[in-house]
Amino acid sequence: MALKYCPGARGLVEPQIIVTYCPVCGAEVEFFEYEVERKCPECGRVVKREATPSCVTWCKSARECIMNLQQLGKLSAERARELLEMLDKTKKSSTE
Ligand SMILES: [Zn+2]
Repeated sequence: MALKYCPGARGLVEPQIIVTYCPVCGAEVEFFEYEVERKCPECGRVVKREATPSCVTWCKSARECIMNLQQLGKLSAERARELLEMLDKTKKSSTE
């Protein structure tokens, strides 16, 4: 089955779980590979991960890509919404 979407989208459709440790309390914090920050489940501190940013954060077609994946049923509506929010957040904090 050859679905046409960009290679970066694999990380959105089948994200790897990456485990990091909270710098404050040492608890394990699980990230999806496209996430760069997440709240520590133990102390609630926002833990940042030094990550290669997902294509979502820089790809010009990210928005269309996410919509497309959602239409293909590759992303749940909830996940798509999360990604779009992340995208908006990135856009806002960039200096462009
Ligand atoms: Zn913690």
